[in-house]
Amino acid sequence: MICDKSLNWSSILFVEDFFKDAKMIVIMNVLVIAAHPDDEVLGMGATIKKLSKQKHKIHLCVVSDGATTVKNKTKLMNQRKKACLQSGKVLGISTFDFLMLPDMRLDDTPQLEINLLLEKIIKKYNPSIVYTTPYSDFHKDHQKIHECTLVATRPASSNVKHVFSYEIPGTVKTTYNPTVFEDVSKEIKYKIRAFKFYSTEIKKFPHPRSIKSIENLAIHRGIESGLKVAEAFRLIHSIND
Ligand SMILES: [Zn+2]
Repeated sequence: MICDKSLNWSSILFVEDFFKDAKMIVIMNVLVIAAHPDDEVLGMGATIKKLSKQKHKIHLCVVSDGATTVKNKTKLMNQRKKACLQSGKVLGISTFDFLMLPDMRLDDTPQLEINLLLEKIIKKYNPSIVYTTPYSDFHKDHQKIHECTLVATRPASSNVKHVFSYEIPGTVKTTYNPTVFEDVSKEIKYKIRAFKFYSTEIKKFPHPRSIKSIENLAIHRGIESGLKVAEAFRLIHSIND
């Protein structure tokens, strides 16, 4: 410890305050990877809001165009892209990358192609945290993006320290067993507000994509974790250096 006669209690407090401030200005790059436009809101809209309120930079990468298999695909594609940008504004997302691969057909897209695209995005933003789609549901696109994220974030080729999968409400192949819960009691209203931009995706209760189901899931995850309202995640890997 350096002793300095001129150091008084007020200057010690100042030093402590400096470190508090220094801690506050550590801004992380956070990358959220979605298979379809709306995964990001359904999976972790409230947590995105929480992170952006903490001044972290949120980058969203949407892999598919969200509409390949429907008849009027250009119209729906544009609608969902617009909804993504509008809802992202509410949540505080800083950047958007739309890779525009074919929706519902990611399973037919060579894994190497998706891996390389995700690696490019990771190089571009150098995130320390990455969130991705779950592996536990029936949607092949979610499974494929989950696997590709694991490859693209491997320690040998990225600086990513923490990787999580978020939970997308819907029919699950295996039970989603969360390992991380985020208190979002102050941010859940932003998730609902953001999801309302995806007007073509909102269904009637008890569909998992109804507003009531989304709110109920958040309450259910809260009950499991001793919180009022929560979003749930699974930790895939965490490197502390
Ligand atoms: Zn999806």
